[in-house]
Amino acid sequence: MIKYALKCEVDHGFEAWFPSSDGFDEQSRQGLVQCPMCGSSKVSKAIMAPMVRTSKEIPSPQQVMAEMLHKVRQHVESTHDYVGSGFAAEARDMHEGLTPERPIYGEATPDEVKALVDDGVPVAALPVMERKGEAAKTGVQKKLN
Ligand SMILES: [Zn+2]
Repeated sequence: MIKYALKCEVDHGFEAWFPSSDGFDEQSRQGLVQCPMCGSSKVSKAIMAPMVRTSKEIPSPQQVMAEMLHKVRQHVESTHDYVGSGFAAEARDMHEGLTPERPIYGEATPDEVKALVDDGVPVAALPVMERKGEAAKTGVQKKLN
């Protein structure tokens, strides 16, 4: 079934359902399509208004992914202490028992991350967020031992 916006010769606008795209042309030719307001059978397709996007629109996979990463990031930021570029040192000290264990996050260079992982310090990369000037560093989160 296809719904068409229609109008009659005096511009009465109405909508009608047809079994197929040919249905309207067929029924119109036979004079079967009549304006519900004036009964005129001189009915034509109205120009369809552009589809209005609503909030119920299904988000794209990219939007879903971005939203998910944003939530992960928000969770970490609300439950972990931010230690900035001191992350590698802090994480290592905790891992070696020099400072009490606590959840932290911050930035580290790829080399720092690799060194931590090589030494068995449990760290996890955070979803990347745009932060100008910090492109060379990776957001990282210290997992509890
Ligand atoms: Zn009419």
